Amino acid sequence: MGKYYIETFGCQMNEFDSARIAYLLDNEGYTPADKIEEADVIAINTCAVREKAKNKLYGHVGNLKSLKKSNPDLVICIGGCSAQNLKEIILKDFPFVDIIFGTHNISQLPELISRRKEINQSICEIKNNGFDYVLDNFKNTLPFKACLPISIGCDNFCSYCIVPYVRGKEISITPEEVIETAGKLVSGGVVEIILLGQNVNSYGKDLDKPVSFAELLNDIARIDGLKRIRFMTSHPKDLSLELIDVISENKNIMNHIHLPLQAGSDKILKSMNRKYTKEGYLGIIENIRAKIKECFITTDIIVGFPGEERGDFNDTLDVVKKVRFNRAFTFIFSKREGTAACSLKDNISIKDKKEWFKELLIIQNQISLEENQKIAGRNFEVLVEGEGNKGLMAGRLENNTVVNFEGDKSMAGKFVNIIVTEARSFYLEGKVLK
Ligand code: SF4
Repeated sequence: MGKYYIETFGCQMNEFDSARIAYLLDNEGYTPADKIEEADVIAINTCAVREKAKNKLYGHVGNLKSLKKSNPDLVICIGGCSAQNLKEIILKDFPFVDIIFGTHNISQLPELISRRKEINQSICEIKNNGFDYVLDNFKNTLPFKACLPISIGCDNFCSYCIVPYVRGKEISITPEEVIETAGKLVSGGVVEIILLGQNVNSYGKDLDKPVSFAELLNDIARIDGLKRIRFMTSHPKDLSLELIDVISENKNIMNHIHLPLQAGSDKILKSMNRKYTKEGYLGIIENIRAKIKECFITTDIIVGFPGEERGDFNDTLDVVKKVRFNRAFTFIFSKREGTAACSLKDNISIKDKKEWFKELLIIQNQISLEENQKIAGRNFEVLVEGEGNKGLMAGRLENNTVVNFEGDKSMAGKFVNIIVTEARSFYLEGKVLK
């Protein structure tokens, strides 16, 4: 059938969608290409969450024009959130694109490719909702670690976010299907599973027999041979005490929670439609710290949201200093067409936004470094993931911190004990203990 090449932008849900595309194309008889230039089918899986991702898409799709020129039979497919959101623009600006497919049309891709080969016309296939696939039909790239969605879509409509518009309303996958798929993955050699959902904490409310995320997690933790369970993303408004208990009671649920703060000011949180307050957020952190030993807490923060004033930004800094996040993913606000925040008056100059952003980074990076320094000299179990920087191997601690150490490729997928020898803001250096 020829070769395919997949390029993925954005979040882990997109990574999972790409693993589904790879599975479907393998099943059709295609084989993966090492380089984009060798491909007969190119699938670009796009992201619409950040401005940067959109710009990247534009640059990238533009570059494909020359490949199409040298190989007119090449089939270029653009999928994912940006494709769904910007279909008219892509069709108009990039007429050489063969197929535009939505996040709910992935299982149709092989059929769309066949159809495109028969007709001399671009195809645009976008469904706005629905769940149309068999959960275990995906190609896992690492034999020992896998992502597994437990729900798709989102009902929250945070005012800055495009996801509910492109991924549709939240649909939970039944616990039976999730547990069966997780069991199959473990039987096949997977030792770490990352459960995915736009908001895992609201899992199960839509099921005929409602089940909480805490209950699902507790059942998954019983799977024999499953050594590490992670999950993302947690919306603070839905994080229950029951969930905190389940994490603290199960050794194979890792001590890491990614809990997006977004802003520290109640005024801005309201305008973002986040449905929690600064005090509420700090209360959740207190509950986590009280129950989960050495829990690694990471977050997302948006700087310069419309209407944000210096006092509001100070509230964000206050939360950052009080919580002492292990890591924060920080972004300057940028408008997403079609979202509620798009029509809000943006009164802050880009200069101010950049200064606040820099200030936040300096404070957070110092906190990340200090928190990592606290564990220097201690021993940890690490799951080796593969080659890291500078010829070193890389693995993750239970709390998800990356550690680089001397070793060889045969260690990938194995657990080793290491001593942390050096702490940096975003990673550690270590030495394998014999
Ligand atoms: S919870 Fe909010 S930020 Fe997260 S995907 Fe849903 S709307 Fe977007």
